[in-house]
Amino acid sequence: MSTPPGQFSRVLATLDLPGLARAGERADDAAVRAVLDRHRGGGRLTLADLAVLLSPAATARLEELATAARAATLARFGRAVRLFAPLYVSNACLSSCTYCGFAKGLPVVRRTLSVDEAEAEARLLADRGFRHVLLVSGEHRIEVSADYLAAVVERLRPMFPAISIETQTWSDDTYARLVAAGLLGAVHYQETYDRARYREVHVAGWKRDFDRRLSSFERAAAAGVRRLGLGVLLGLAVDWRADVLALAAHASFLSRRYWRTEVTAALPRIRPNAAGFPPVVEVDDAEFVQIHAALRLYEPDLDLSLSTREPPAMRDGLVRIAVTTMSAGSSTEPGGYSRPGAAGEQFTISDERPPAEIAAMLVAAGYDPVWKDAFPLVAT
Ligand code: SF4
Repeated sequence: MSTPPGQFSRVLATLDLPGLARAGERADDAAVRAVLDRHRGGGRLTLADLAVLLSPAATARLEELATAARAATLARFGRAVRLFAPLYVSNACLSSCTYCGFAKGLPVVRRTLSVDEAEAEARLLADRGFRHVLLVSGEHRIEVSADYLAAVVERLRPMFPAISIETQTWSDDTYARLVAAGLLGAVHYQETYDRARYREVHVAGWKRDFDRRLSSFERAAAAGVRRLGLGVLLGLAVDWRADVLALAAHASFLSRRYWRTEVTAALPRIRPNAAGFPPVVEVDDAEFVQIHAALRLYEPDLDLSLSTREPPAMRDGLVRIAVTTMSAGSSTEPGGYSRPGAAGEQFTISDERPPAEIAAMLVAAGYDPVWKDAFPLVAT
């Protein structure tokens, strides 16, 4: 049974994002300069402006774009960079997403941690300095039930002031129950906002319901979840510009409607995994930087998160431009911190530096690694 659309679904239906993306792509240098001037003048940018900043003409002005984004990031977030670690509690999954190494039926070793095992993994992360942990699982309603997840959150609460989940989406009641257990944030990437492409790659399972996923943040925020993590998987849909515009529109909608809730976004590029899914479009390094810089100018308050999927040089560069949250020292397999190699991983990471080395890199670059939850307040 499909889920009734949420409020943002109705907003999305009114936006011609592919049209906006095509118009932006045709922008010339004068149009790019006009948008950058409007930003410098303190004007709020529109989605049409963002489309211009994503254009090939704007790629030619990448240095200028990055400089403006860096200034906007420093003005809003100062030199704080928040660090977190993913804790994979299960790779069991009943969904079949063609791009994912955990998809049902793939021949990977499956494992779901007991609550005690999850606590043991968490202790290792706490010993490495982390105070913000992201509990990650596939979608398996029996192995990773609401009862199980609430028990893990409750057990970890004394160790971690900030606990987020990246699991299946839940009902209002379950989000409320998880908040009562100690949950701070929920991450549910839409992956692509293109409905047709979404159906092609989400072949079976709970995640196939586009509207259920899209409306999950509205249920979570209404239930008291205080941080919402949006994302698109670059390389999944050909029209990556339309997906970036949709993510920006979604972030704006949520931060205005749920003003007490922080919105965070990530735009991972597809990495090798057991599914062997080839990206349908290559977002090159310059475009990847451009996307982050453009989003910073469009939505200065948006927390931009970057995972260890990206190589060290890209992470070290983007943190100086737009990124404000990073994972570090990540394992993408259940139990991978204490017993690496015993279960299948979701994808291969690129930045294998330990957390202390990431923190040292940040300090050397003049940034403050923040291990716990909150960004220090910056006067704007
Ligand atoms: S993306 Fe999530 S729901 Fe889909 S196969 Fe992977 S773990 Fe399962």
